[in-house]
Amino acid sequence: MALHARVEEALAVTANLFQSFGITSDGRVVSVEDVRRGMACDCCCTECGELLIARQGDVRAWHFAHDSGAGCTGAAEGALHRAAKQLLVEAGSVLAPAMEARASHRVDDGRLGEATVVKPAELWVLTQIREEVAVGVHRIDVVGAHDGRPVLIEVAVTHVVDDDKRKALSELGAPCFEISLDVHCHESWSWEDLRLEVLERPENRRWIYHPDQPMLDEQARCEAVAKSFGGRYKGAPYRNWVIPVGAKSAVLEQLDGIGAVRET
Ligand SMILES: [Zn+2]
Repeated sequence: MALHARVEEALAVTANLFQSFGITSDGRVVSVEDVRRGMACDCCCTECGELLIARQGDVRAWHFAHDSGAGCTGAAEGALHRAAKQLLVEAGSVLAPAMEARASHRVDDGRLGEATVVKPAELWVLTQIREEVAVGVHRIDVVGAHDGRPVLIEVAVTHVVDDDKRKALSELGAPCFEISLDVHCHESWSWEDLRLEVLERPENRRWIYHPDQPMLDEQARCEAVAKSFGGRYKGAPYRNWVIPVGAKSAVLEQLDGIGAVRET
């Protein structure tokens, strides 16, 4: 995308999004619905620290405005990001993304087997949750523990995880996923809007790294091989295959060839 198009897109985002969250003097993120009207809201901008005014009128959506009237670039998005992190910490559970593996295998005679293996999204209870954890040169938005192992969560509002950070996070070896908030979903955001998007919506999250992905990939590869021979998969690793008579030794040979681990 050309630079001017990106700038226009960024401006459009800013123009369509009201600042729905501010921060109190004791560091808590609050919604414009939680506070008293006007200066009595007693909170600041999460980005620049300036005092905010709670606009709670009848015409436009309720929002925060800066006391000086000055523009504050990215205030609405930054505030949304802060609110999302606080929500994750306080909720103590989050929907972990689905995991998927696809594979295809073609036999010499041209037959093709294609397989998709999906591990559905599931609700994970998290303990020991913290915001803004430094790992090397990177900061991770939220870190918690699930079933005794660490989980890393990134929340993308305007910035998705770039390749460098993706690589660094993968090298940690812990499950790590990204939640992408579409700021265009709402003109202004309530806690309830944010709760649905951050904690519950399966479509807006994906794994950056999961240590079980190679296992799922292998399962898909095995399934594709067996399917290419007309086989049918019944369950866990590949002793559960129903393979057509006469094809079994060829299937096993192919599976050994791709390094599949045979259950005995
Ligand atoms: Zn500001």
